[in-house]
Amino acid sequence: MSDFADERNQICDIGKRLYAREFVAAHEGNVSVRLPDGNILCTPTMQCKGFLQRGDLCVLDTEMNQLSGSKKPTSEIRLHLEIYRQRSDINAVVHSHAPHATAFAVANRPFPVGVLAEPDLFLGEVALAPFQTPGSDEFAQSVTPFVHDTNAIILANHGVVTYAGDLEQALWMTEILDAACKTIILSMSIGGPKRLSKEQSRALAKKRSHFGFNDPRDLGNSEIDVRKNPLFGQQMDSNGIDRTFFED
Ligand SMILES: [Zn+2]
Repeated sequence: MSDFADERNQICDIGKRLYAREFVAAHEGNVSVRLPDGNILCTPTMQCKGFLQRGDLCVLDTEMNQLSGSKKPTSEIRLHLEIYRQRSDINAVVHSHAPHATAFAVANRPFPVGVLAEPDLFLGEVALAPFQTPGSDEFAQSVTPFVHDTNAIILANHGVVTYAGDLEQALWMTEILDAACKTIILSMSIGGPKRLSKEQSRALAKKRSHFGFNDPRDLGNSEIDVRKNPLFGQQMDSNGIDRTFFED
């Protein structure tokens, strides 16, 4: 039986990068990958992600039964398993408390689309999931309504989770989101972000589709304002955007 050395090395490497970027403090955060045999390799609970060894990692089946590893897995693995259950194309999940994205989480502020090119191209929609106690079943299920149409979810009053086909991409989603949140927070001290036009925003959504991302904003209807958030409008004002960010 393979010991999945490559996947173990990748998780240890991502843990170092999360810690170096200060996306996780102390024992915070967790990382997992879906192995070729369908089982899940994940980080243990109560251990700093900056100093992981290959042997620290746990292998679980999709029912959360531990198959190998002497350490206890993170309780937040329930969140990862829910994402893998909902998305067969996802093979890696990164959960962190990246500080600028987590600032949006504690403010219960949705991440705005249509203000910055990079996240519009590579992240698409970012959901804001309601708070649930970390590690609970309710916490895992808090992402279910959003997971099919996103690759990044801000977890209210908690942190952020990103997911992709591989671990490198999943980390990039966190990095892009956190950098964008930082830029938006900085811009608020000099007048706040200004929105792209409908046409500019639509062009980004189309380009994203051309990259192979399925972007629900690219609806092919010139009357639809792609800057508004058709999926998560219930979390925003009656116009579908968070007005506190914008002068329209
Ligand atoms: Zn957390």
